[in-house]
Amino acid sequence: MVSIYNAIIIGSGPAGHTAALYLARANLHPLLLEGDSSGEVVAGGLLTTTKVVENFPGFPQGIDGFDLTDRFREQSARFGTEIRSETATKLEQVDNLFQVYTASNTYSTRAVLIATGSTPNRLYIPGYDNFWHKGISTCAVCDGGLPVYRNVPIAVVGGGDSACEEALHLAHTASKVYMIIRKDVMRASKIMADRVLSNPKIIPIWQSTVEEVQGGAHLEKILVKHAETGVVNALEVRGLFVAIGHTPNSDIVKNLVDIDANGYIVTNRKGETSCKGIWAAGDVQDPHYRQAITAAASGCVAALEIERSLY
Ligand code: NDP
Repeated sequence: MVSIYNAIIIGSGPAGHTAALYLARANLHPLLLEGDSSGEVVAGGLLTTTKVVENFPGFPQGIDGFDLTDRFREQSARFGTEIRSETATKLEQVDNLFQVYTASNTYSTRAVLIATGSTPNRLYIPGYDNFWHKGISTCAVCDGGLPVYRNVPIAVVGGGDSACEEALHLAHTASKVYMIIRKDVMRASKIMADRVLSNPKIIPIWQSTVEEVQGGAHLEKILVKHAETGVVNALEVRGLFVAIGHTPNSDIVKNLVDIDANGYIVTNRKGETSCKGIWAAGDVQDPHYRQAITAAASGCVAALEIERSLY
């Protein structure tokens, strides 16, 4: 006989593990699929790529993102979460149940929580991989306060609301912030663009793209090309914060639930999606905050609602 899980959690970042912890403590024996860590799917999610997490309460000295994720995992396992290092590749609804497929197994469940996070878009330029986390980051809130980025020139790529937020955040600590915008207008909302443009520490560089990054052990220089003139200038910066959008990892449910124009799963404040039995938590449904703590909180909310729906 095929066993039916009460709940399967797809994803292993703060949202997934917080939900697992709550469901396990409610004796619902959840299964958490953490990903097989091949290709793009990394167990623990984006947090594992952050060097020091200084804004998660309870760790006054900060904590390595990988260590924090390990602790999440240990805690959800301690209460009986079954954790499998498999990547969910397909989800189907069959009557009142859901089938979750991985490369090696098919699981049946009453409830599914999608906590698959999002992937920051990257630049495909020479040097990018060499300086990833040695000067290149996609999260100013996570990394901008590190000593290496303080009182030195920094660059931000992008002209959307995220790039504005990054630039404004970095302007508190960096000596100056170049903002490399590929058009002659910003895509950002007017209020955010105005804030950026009136900040004396932020220097917009219009109609320009970063063509290459260079340095030694750490990033030292970026080559910036003007779209109209073709002139390439070298800018000395110690940090390059890339804010050119995120891609939510919502493919697995795109035919089952409502997805917004940017690919985020649409949820209500209970974490419910448009399909009864499927919940979503964390970055895959959050275009705004994208913090470990907000992801964890949304995982908690969804788990409490799943528990209510099952008992
Ligand atoms: P957006 O898609 O809005 O903006 C992406 C920016 O990156 C654009 O300026 C785009 O340029 C630029 N870009 C994309 N690809 C490249 C590339 N290869 N090289 C250089 N530049 C590139 O993404 P955001 O993450 O900023 O925002 C996503 C959504 O979240 C939006 O709806 C936004 O309003 C919302 N958001 C809201 C916030 C708030 O309300 N406080 C904060 C953060 C996000 P171009 O314009 O030329 O296409």
